[in-house]
Amino acid sequence: MRLRLSARIALTFSLLLLAVLVAAFVAVSAANRANAHREVDRQIGVGIRVFERVLESNRRQLAQAAQVLAADYGFREAVATHDADTQTSALENQGARIGSEVGVLISPDGVVMASTTPIVRPGERFTQAMLPALANEPVSAVVSAGGRVYQLVVVPVRSPLLVAWVAMGFQLDSHAVTELASVTGLQVTLLSGEGTVAASTLDMASLAAVIDHSPDWVTTEVPLGASGARALLSRSLSEALAPFEQLTRLLVLIAAAALAISALAVLGLARHIARPLQSLTRVIDRIRSGDYHVSVPVSRADEIGAVADGLRAMQGAVDARDRAIRELAYTDALTGLRNRTAFTSAVDGLIAERRGCVAVALVNVDRFRRINECLGYGAGDTVLRAWADRLRGGDFSDVAPARLAADHFAVARVMPDDAAARAWAGELLAALTTDVVFDGQPIDVRGTAGVALPPGEDASADLLLRCADAAVERARRAKSDVALYEGSPEDANRAQLSLWSELQRAVERDELRLYLQPKCRLKDGAPVGAEALIRWQHPERGLLGPAEFVPFAEQTGLIRSVTQWALERAVAAAARMAREGVRLPISVNISAVDLADARLPARVHQCLEAAGLPPALLKLEITESGFIDDPAHALEVLDALAALGVGLSIDDFGTGYSSLSYLARMPVSELKIDRSFVIDLRQPETAAVVRSAIELADRLQMQTVAEGIEDAGVAERLREMGCEIGQGYHYAKPMPEPDYERWVGARVVKDTAAAAPSVAASA
Ligand code: C2E
Ligand code: MG
Ligand code: MG
Repeated sequence: MRLRLSARIALTFSLLLLAVLVAAFVAVSAANRANAHREVDRQIGVGIRVFERVLESNRRQLAQAAQVLAADYGFREAVATHDADTQTSALENQGARIGSEVGVLISPDGVVMASTTPIVRPGERFTQAMLPALANEPVSAVVSAGGRVYQLVVVPVRSPLLVAWVAMGFQLDSHAVTELASVTGLQVTLLSGEGTVAASTLDMASLAAVIDHSPDWVTTEVPLGASGARALLSRSLSEALAPFEQLTRLLVLIAAAALAISALAVLGLARHIARPLQSLTRVIDRIRSGDYHVSVPVSRADEIGAVADGLRAMQGAVDARDRAIRELAYTDALTGLRNRTAFTSAVDGLIAERRGCVAVALVNVDRFRRINECLGYGAGDTVLRAWADRLRGGDFSDVAPARLAADHFAVARVMPDDAAARAWAGELLAALTTDVVFDGQPIDVRGTAGVALPPGEDASADLLLRCADAAVERARRAKSDVALYEGSPEDANRAQLSLWSELQRAVERDELRLYLQPKCRLKDGAPVGAEALIRWQHPERGLLGPAEFVPFAEQTGLIRSVTQWALERAVAAAARMAREGVRLPISVNISAVDLADARLPARVHQCLEAAGLPPALLKLEITESGFIDDPAHALEVLDALAALGVGLSIDDFGTGYSSLSYLARMPVSELKIDRSFVIDLRQPETAAVVRSAIELADRLQMQTVAEGIEDAGVAERLREMGCEIGQGYHYAKPMPEPDYERWVGARVVKDTAAAAPSVAASA
């Protein structure tokens, strides 16, 4: 069992005190006992001396009285005349004077002549021993007779010769012992020569104890002359100890009271210490569980108070540090805006409030990469901070504005409808699209915004963000400042699917499919190559087009694996067909993310080597936006790819912002005019643009390929304009690899030895 701290302190202290008290008690008791013994011994010593003095004083009194009588003339005459009556009355008179009961007149030969006591009668013989023959001096002795004890003094009666002896004495009876006892303070017992008790101050029981040498009694025997009589001087030990014992009892009482009081006091003191410690322990437990605001309920001036103060200070410090860490975890270090995590949870909170429809707007800095590239990262940072300041300064968001990634900013607001959302995004862009001054120079900064309103019932912040992202992408493609997400709820649900892991799995499980769409000579429709277009055979959702997963793959970087897959498959297909005599190049689409990877040329080279495909039978299509962000680096990679011998093509020409200066420097051999121009060819302005593009390609010694030819008329017009090659449903839709092989097999003359039939070769 674990005792509480207060109980342990109280118990320890009380046990200590008890031990001290017991030791003191034992010592005091032993001292008391020794003292009592010493006192009894001393009293007995004094008693003996007093007893002897009393006997001596008796002897003197008796001797004097007897000598006076012996010297009395009348008495001597009565002795001489044997006048017994006179002798007896003289003895009685003198005896009465000193209170002596015994008066005896004895003849020189020892016969009693007269007596005042019945113990010796005239005519009897007196104790011979008492009568020294020639004694002149009084003789004193204690004699015992008939069980009684007497003190006698015998003096001679001379006239002038010895005529008689006078003996006078006191009986040492109970009166005498009482007197002796009162003088000595001891119990006195007289024993006769025969051993019987002559007199005693003791009661019968005590007397028996004394005679039996009981340890309770201290007794000293004083011999009284030759008669064998003796006196016992006794003192009871228990009686002597009684006052000490009373003292001891008092002491025990005081000790018990002291023990009880001190135990209570110590318990109180211990509680005074233990209680606040318990409260502090509880506080520590709460702090440990993350509650930093629990109040510390101890405030004192002593050491425990100091501990409580320390705890309070620690609590504050831990709280501050905790908050700082949280702040760091939710704040973007560069701009001080919230980060993605904080923004997502704030928007989810706003949605949960159900105040209305929550719209999310994403704004990206246009050509941000270029700003970094041309003006340095300092300029890029300045632009981002300037935008952050404007977002913070303006009233654009119901939650704290955030920077999600490099140049992606986000705000959220409750919006009544699409029109309001569009207006909101417009205001947002207007506030952001002003010059930012860096190093004294104004930088023209523009942005593109995408706005997402909840596409279905249950929109999460995450879904809104993805939709807004898609809207930004749409705005970019449509070359407008703002776009609203227009996906159906089904689209939203699709977006919500965990594309990441699914797509990763798709590559691993070979769920991707390679489709090929022929490129044909406009002049006669002969196939001159094919473009590899990817599809995803989704296990649940069926065959998905690239629009449903390629943008996502580009955002997440997964596109590298997808491209690698397409590259390997396309190269393998081209190699196989080349071996079978169809030596037509296949084009593979390369995204901007791939182009940013300096290892792309090495990967392409490895692929060609592995399949044994001549580099000329591979083309890579790069969209304009692929080199727009980092043209210098893109140029390096393109040069390296060109050095391998593979053909390079600019895809979707006209939709990007590629500068003509870069175009001239790119090692590109093909230019693909975007589908949107081809479809719109009836418009004179569009036709003019297409014509100039064809002329430009011609000047730069590039082949022109027109995408999206859906009918013969368009093909014809394009041919007239000078375009050589076309691609579109008019010739064939994208088809699976085997279909393409059949399709193309039916249209080309197989030539296993000769070079691939190409437009250049046949032209
Ligand atoms: P893109 O490279 O411009 O490909 C041409 C797109 O136009 C293809 O769409 C094709 O099916 C479509 N098309 C061809 N002829 C016609 C026509 O006559 N009328 C119409 N309306 N459309 C026509 P698809 O296959 O949906 O591919 C879309 C885009 O996805 C491609 O545009 C390309 O940018 C991208 N993509 C496809 N496969 C890959 C790939 O393996 N890697 C990468 N990075 N992107 C790919
Ligand atoms: Mg393409
Ligand atoms: Mg294209």
